[in-house]
Amino acid sequence: MVSIIDGNKIAQDIRNEVRQSALALKEQKGIIPGLAVVLVGEDPASQIYVGKKAKACADVGFLSREYKLPAETDEEKLLKIIRKLNKDKLIHGILVQLPLPKHISTEKIIAAIDPHKDVDGFHPYNVGGLVTGSPLFVPCTPRGIMELIARTGIDLKGKEAVVVGRSNIVGKPIALLLLAQHATVTICHSRTKDLPSVTRRADILIAAVGKAHMIKADMVKDGAIVIDVGVNRLENGKLAGDVDFDEVAPKASYITPVPGGVGPMTIAMLMKNTLDAALAL
Ligand code: NDP
Repeated sequence: MVSIIDGNKIAQDIRNEVRQSALALKEQKGIIPGLAVVLVGEDPASQIYVGKKAKACADVGFLSREYKLPAETDEEKLLKIIRKLNKDKLIHGILVQLPLPKHISTEKIIAAIDPHKDVDGFHPYNVGGLVTGSPLFVPCTPRGIMELIARTGIDLKGKEAVVVGRSNIVGKPIALLLLAQHATVTICHSRTKDLPSVTRRADILIAAVGKAHMIKADMVKDGAIVIDVGVNRLENGKLAGDVDFDEVAPKASYITPVPGGVGPMTIAMLMKNTLDAALAL
């Protein structure tokens, strides 16, 4: 019998834990965790994400500051804002909403963030730390996935994990985190030959591709844990994951739905990373 992992509930539990820790931090040390979110341009999806982040901050009792800059903002102006935020004692986390306009170098901007305030975990210092096993911050979506897996109670040691997708924000970091938990990890991508024969080996299958319903029942081993990171908008306006949920769920031991699986965990872990940044002072 499959268990559906309730990301909404787990994310809410995490937010409640974060709210309590933030309250204790305020009472004991007078510190209120602060998150600065910088948005350049008017991309509608980015505006929605930034709004959600500010709302989540209010929900857990954090200070939040939004910097909404016009699309034509130049790189130097953005760097100046980041340098100022790096020194700002009220701000513990800095997040630059991606993607940035083309005339701005994303690498340069991320590298300018103080790694101790890099709550997205994208700074090369933290990426390096993830490889060697000691990052200050882990990117929010992969950290959220690990939390979901941890709450199934399954020990990853020696298990076969297959990650489909090798992006810097999901595929690669989740593979490193699974490896750190002693799983045997395979990473697949668009040039992988005979994908189903690889995914069928997985005790834990992570789909992070961005193609609606591409993981079918015949690609999944009986009893696998299936984590669906994909968020795809269908023609009828509904959201769908990378996994064909109706086909795959009867074969899985645990599965995350879309929506309501990995999605809500990302912002919950952003709150957790910001709390960690404030606690580290
Ligand atoms: P990217 O587009 O950066 O990466 C997609 C990956 O999938 C690439 O590595 C690509 O391979 C691989 N891929 C593409 N087609 C195939 C195929 N047919 N078979 C095997 N692999 C394939 O996406 P992201 O990692 O940024 O995001 C993945 C999905 O997760 C998206 O739907 C995104 O919306 C969602 N997402 C959800 C989040 C959440 O909070 N729930 C957060 C972040 C992302 P190659 O490298 O060879 O091109």
